[in-house]
Amino acid sequence: MDCDKCDDEAVMHAAYSGLHMCADHFCRSVESRTRRRVREDNLLPDDASPDDPETWLIGLSGGKDSVVLTQILHDTFAEDPRVELVALTIHEGIEGYRDESLAACRDLTEDLDVRHELVTYEEEFDLRMDDVAVEDPMDMAPCAYCGVFRRDLLSKYAAEYDADKLLTGHNLDDEAQTALMNFFEGDVEQMAKHFDASLGAFPGAADGGGDRDGTPVRVSTDGPFVPRAKPLRDVPEKEIALYAQLQDLPAHITECPHASEAYRGEIQQLLFDMEENHPGVRHSIMAGYEDLAAMAARAYRDGGGPEYGECERCGATTTRAVCRKCSLVEAVHAAD
Ligand code: SF4
Ligand SMILES: [Zn+2]
Ligand SMILES: [Zn+2]
Repeated sequence: MDCDKCDDEAVMHAAYSGLHMCADHFCRSVESRTRRRVREDNLLPDDASPDDPETWLIGLSGGKDSVVLTQILHDTFAEDPRVELVALTIHEGIEGYRDESLAACRDLTEDLDVRHELVTYEEEFDLRMDDVAVEDPMDMAPCAYCGVFRRDLLSKYAAEYDADKLLTGHNLDDEAQTALMNFFEGDVEQMAKHFDASLGAFPGAADGGGDRDGTPVRVSTDGPFVPRAKPLRDVPEKEIALYAQLQDLPAHITECPHASEAYRGEIQQLLFDMEENHPGVRHSIMAGYEDLAAMAARAYRDGGGPEYGECERCGATTTRAVCRKCSLVEAVHAAD
C-alpha cells in the first residue's frame, strides 16, 4: 500500500483518520501534532525572551514516550533562546530495570546535548523500591508508594531548577485511560484537578484565551506547584513506539517488575477493544472529557481552592500536617 501523501510505501495505517503514511510522512505528522499541542496549550508565553527564558523540566524515564518527547522538544527548541530544556531522571531502585533505561537517558541527552540530572530514591529517601515492594508496610500496591515518591521529587526539583513547567510523556492512551477511570470512579473533583494540573491550556492561548473555539484554559495555574503539561497527549501510544523505532531512538521497553495497576490494565484492554471496533473513540473521549473537566474545574474553583501549608518534616507544600511522602517514608523505615 502506498502513502496517501507520496509514492513511497506506507509503514502504518491510522484507522481513526483513514490515512496510510510512509515513514517520512508519519514522523512529520507525529512532530506536527506535538508542536500543535505545544502551541494550542500556549506552553511558550509571549513574554518569554532570551534574557528571561522559560525553563522546561522534562521527566525522562528512558521509556519510549519520554524519549520521543525529549527528542521532539529538542528538535523544535534547541535553536530557540527563549526555551531551556532540562531532563530529569528518577532512579527508583529497581534492579535491572531502571539501570538500563538510565543508560538510554544518558545516550539520548549526550547525543542531543541536553542538560541531564539524576536523582535517586536511595539518596533522597534512603530506600529502594525493590525493598518497599517486599516490606509493604501500608499493604498497598508498589506503584502507590512509587507514584507519591516520584511526584514529590518532580515537584522538588522543578522548584530547585526554577522550572516554569514540568513536561511529561503521557500519550493519548494514557490520558483516555485516566479520563475513563475518573468517570468509572465517579470522581468529578478528580476531573477538575486533572484539568487544572496538566490538561488545560495556559492562559493567553493563541485563540485569545477563550474556550469556545479552542482548547479550554486552566482555571488556576497559580497554585504552589510547578504546572505540568503533556505535549504528546494527542498521539496514540503505538505511534510513539513506531516513531521511536523509525528514528532509532535509544528507548528502553521492558516493563517494571513491580507494575501493578490492575484497574488501569482493565481499562486499557477495554479501550483497545473499543478502538478496534470504533476507530477514533480515544480522541472523542478526550474531546468531551476536556470540556467536562474544564466545567468541573470552574465549578470547584468557585468553592475556593484547597488550603496549603508546609509539611512539618520536609517543608513540602501539602494540605496535611505531615505530607504523604514523609508518612510513607517513615512507615517504610519503621518496618525495616
Ligand atoms: S510501574 Fe509502579 S513501581 Fe514500577 S516504576 Fe512505575 S510506578 Fe514505580
Ligand atoms: Zn509519504
Ligand atoms: Zn514531608
